[in-house]
This record gives sequence, C-alpha cells and structure tokens, in this order.
Amino acid sequence: MNNSEKCFQQAKLSIPGGVNSPVRSFSSVKRNPLFIDSAKGAYVFDIDGNEYIDYVGSWGPMILGHNHPKIQEAVINATNKGLSFGAPTKPEITMAELIKKHISSIDKVRMVNSGTEATMSAIRLARGYTGKSKIIKFEGCYHGHVDSLLVKAGSGALTFGKPSSAGIPDDTTKDTLVCQFNDIKSVEQAIKNNENEIAALIIEPVAGNMNCILPKDNFLKKIRELCNLNKIILIFDEVMTGFRVNYKSAQGYYDVQPDLTCLGKIIGGGLPAAAFGGKSEIMDMLAPNGPVYQAGTLSGNPIAMAAGTACLQTLMNEKNFKDLDHKSKSLTSGLLTVANDYKVPFKTSQIGGMFGLFFTNQESISTFKDVNQCNQEHFLKFFNEMLDQGIYLAPSSFEAGFISLAHTQDLIEQTINASETAFKEIAKV
Ligand code: PMP
Repeated sequence: MNNSEKCFQQAKLSIPGGVNSPVRSFSSVKRNPLFIDSAKGAYVFDIDGNEYIDYVGSWGPMILGHNHPKIQEAVINATNKGLSFGAPTKPEITMAELIKKHISSIDKVRMVNSGTEATMSAIRLARGYTGKSKIIKFEGCYHGHVDSLLVKAGSGALTFGKPSSAGIPDDTTKDTLVCQFNDIKSVEQAIKNNENEIAALIIEPVAGNMNCILPKDNFLKKIRELCNLNKIILIFDEVMTGFRVNYKSAQGYYDVQPDLTCLGKIIGGGLPAAAFGGKSEIMDMLAPNGPVYQAGTLSGNPIAMAAGTACLQTLMNEKNFKDLDHKSKSLTSGLLTVANDYKVPFKTSQIGGMFGLFFTNQESISTFKDVNQCNQEHFLKFFNEMLDQGIYLAPSSFEAGFISLAHTQDLIEQTINASETAFKEIAKV
C-alpha cells in the first residue's frame, strides 16, 4: 500500500468519504485519490514522491501555475498585517475596482467566500429585486451546492448519478425550471408557460461542469433578448469562465452583458474568495442599502484579497490570454491527431485556458444529452493510462480541463506523447 492509499484509509475514518469535496475521491474513475503534498508551476507532487503535469489546477484558480511567486509574496506580506478584522479594508476596494475595470457589466460587486455563496446570493438578489420567485437553470450546469440550484446539476452531482441531492425538500426546487443548454426553444417554452413569474435565468456562458460545451448559434444573445422582453434578470455564472476563457471573460468574448455576474476561483488566486456583481440599481438592493440580506464573517478577507489581486494583476494582459488559447489549442489538436491515428472516436473543445475531451463520434456535442452519450469506458481507460504516465487530468468526464501559463509547449508535447499509449490501449477495447 502506498502513502496515498494509507492516507485515504485513514481519512475515511474521520472525514465522510475521506474527502472534503466529492469529486476528489476519484470514485468515478474507480481508483484511489492521490494525496498531494505540494505543487509548483504546472506540476503537482503527491506524498509518494511522484510528479504529475496538472490539468486540474485546483479546479480553475491556478491560471498562473501553482504557487506563483507574485501570489506567494502578496500573501506573506498581507499576513504581516493580521489575518482578518471583520471591518472594511483597502484591499477590498482594490479588488472591487480591478473586477470593475475588466468586467464592464459590473458597477458594484460584493465579495463572498465561495462560488456557491455567489450564486445563492445572486438568486436571492434577483428575486428580491423583481419580486418574482421562479428561476431558470440549464441541465448539466452546476452553480455550487445551493439547494434551489441542485436540480439536474453538473460536476460531482452528475458523476454521482443523482440529478439532485437528498435533503432538499421538493418545495425548495419547485420554482426551479430546467432548460436545455443550446436549445433556445426550451427557454422560450419555459418563459411562455410561466409568464411574469420568472425572476432570473442563471447560466454558465460556457458550460464547464458537463465537460466543456460552448454556446452555439448566438444562444447567449438570444437568451439576453428573451430576458429583456420578459424582465428576467440574466445571471452569468462566470465562477469558472471569469478571467479564464478570454481577457474579457465569457461575456466579453460573446459580447453579451448580463445583469449580474458571479465570479470565483481565479479572483481568489487559490484562496477562498468569490463575488457577485452587476448593475448598481440591482446591487443597491443589498443590505445595508436595501432589503435583501446577505453577509459574511470572512467576506473580503484581506489575505484572500491580496492573493486574488496579485493573481489578476499578473494575469490581466491580452498576450497571456492569447498564450493560454494557443496552448489549449495545441493540446487538443495534438490529442485529436493521436486519437485519429489509432481510430479512436474522439472530439475536443477549447476556449482560452479551458478545454474538453469527448470520447465519441457524434458530429456535434452541444447539450447535456450529447455529453451523456460519450463512451465512459474509453474515458476511464484514458484517465488511468494518463495518470500512470504522470498526467493528472480531471477524474471525471463531466469536468473541463484547465491550462495555466506555466504549461510550456514542452509539457504539452509530453502530454500528447503520453496519450499514444492511452489511445493505443483504447483502440484494443
Ligand atoms: N459555479 C460554477 C460554474 C462552478 O464551476 C462552481 C464550482 N466548480 C461553482 C459555481 C461553485 O463554486 P464553489 O465550489 O466555490 O462553491
């Protein structure tokens, strides 16, 4: 038994499932999880002394690579002043202004501690602002473990085979309408059937919790129009896509302005920070200005603000995003070539520093149904073969992959070379 296996046994005795977030358990890839000791640049190192080229990046935040010196320095400097004050601080203004500078749909922004808090609060705010109750979400989109949003959700909720969770009363989800991603007719129908009752529509503008699905045929623009016509608050959940897919985030890339935006992951630079923001008129409904209550003991924590600010300041130039896009293109096209060589049915998607791998010969993959039809057995083989060769991919076929600025062309070549063995094995099945 290696050290990771020993630790997993030990962890299971005192932590449910041995993990503090389900997908980490590797249960969907039928393997013991690696216990990570440290990480640097594009690499993670496990407690058995193995190194891996990491395409998970702590599920998104590590866009500069692990333990970037600028973030590390900012965190150390911030800790010299104290850890948390429960009072306003200057770093919160710096962060708010940075976010506003890069996301033009945001006039005001409130910091929270997780993506879940951001989406939960945005939904409450939209309901408070409109006085309506119903919300629209999309099958396969994940917005954290908010009760009312855990309906046909993506990510771990998908791999565990439960479209929603036990412990959520039917009443809590009765106002959640589920539409199909990339199917505007399903949205039109939901709005028609619930006229004047829908407070908000929440969507991942690029769906990253059912693999990586891009919006097509102006889907987001059409949604914007429908929301305008029906006085529905449009919420872009950019917890994953914000500062990841493009210099201007997904909303800039697709040129669609939401009313509210949720952010997380990258804006914390690896520490717990997230945010929701939007038009002043809506944001000013929040306490203490307005009647919608929302709060947090550690919200805007100075250490998290320091990490996030250093991350954004280092990241935000157009050249970095060209670089990320080039790298994810180079990875996905390289993998595709090898798959074709071995005649393995395979497709890819990519945008900026985010990519998807699909084991399928379907012409287009644009809905949750399409993702569900991919070959799970092939994915399993691929994941395991790659991990054995030191390539750490997301342990689920429903998760997007992430590239960082620390992934050099050499590491990408190494990854593509490793895939030879994996595709060769799959071709034998
Ligand atoms: N929204 C999206 C799009 C996400 O990908 C996630 C997490 N992966 C969340 C919300 C929830 O964020 P957190 O895990 O920080 O609560």
